[in-house]
Order: sequence, then structure tokens, then C-alpha cells
Amino acid sequence: MTHKVFQCIHCHMRFGVPEAAVGGEGQCPGCGSVVPLPPEAAMEMIPSDDGIATLIPFKNTAALLSYYLGVFSLACMLFLGPPAIILGIIGLVNRAKNPSIHGTAHAWIGIVLGSITTLLGIAAVVLVIIALMQG
Ligand SMILES: [Zn+2]
Repeated sequence: MTHKVFQCIHCHMRFGVPEAAVGGEGQCPGCGSVVPLPPEAAMEMIPSDDGIATLIPFKNTAALLSYYLGVFSLACMLFLGPPAIILGIIGLVNRAKNPSIHGTAHAWIGIVLGSITTLLGIAAVVLVIIALMQG
């Protein structure tokens, strides 16, 4: 299968797009923006396995959800961090069972962000408790 290369109009990351997706829209693997994929904007043909990032892994739902929960958990702290970690692990398992679905990077981002926000959330709670005890 061949891919066409597009460049994100927002973050300028280059990514491969399966030929079948050209003409529609895709989600940038770098910044998550939905970008149009007009045929005239395609830069070149590349073999599918040259290491360039490919479009966001819609097929690996758990990895994708983990990624978004991880990102959103930055805002909401404790509540979304743990599910982001769990979904990230599920995403990695899915990916291990079926490598064609991709999603490893998103799963890891979800796990890492989920872990960070969970720890930050716990730290915030501890700080509040300490403050209350001292008050
Ligand atoms: Zn982008």
C-alpha cells in the first residue's frame, strides 16, 4: 500500500496518508487538528513503512481515547488521569494483538499524561489537606 505525504496546515508536521483517504479529511498526528487532504496538496508518494507518522489511528479506539483523556486530564486532573492510563494500556494490548491498527504513540501519550495529571492531582489534594491542617 502506498501513502501520500501531506503537511499539517497548523503545526507543519508531515505525515503519510493512505491513498484511499486523499480527498477527505484527516486528523494530524502531531497537533490533533482536523486537516483537509486535497489531492493537489499531496507532496509525494512514499512506501508505507518509511517511519513517517501516519494519520491518527481511528481503528484503535482505546489508544485514541487514552490520548484524549490524557490531554483533557491536564485540565481536569484526577478524574480523567486513571482512565487515560487504563485505556492506554488497553490500546497497547490492542496494538500488540493487531499491529495494523497503529496507536502506540497515542496510547503512550495517554499513559504518560494520565500518570502526570494523576500525580499532580494527588499532590494538589495533599497540599490542600496540609493547608487545611495548618489553617
Ligand atoms: Zn498538526
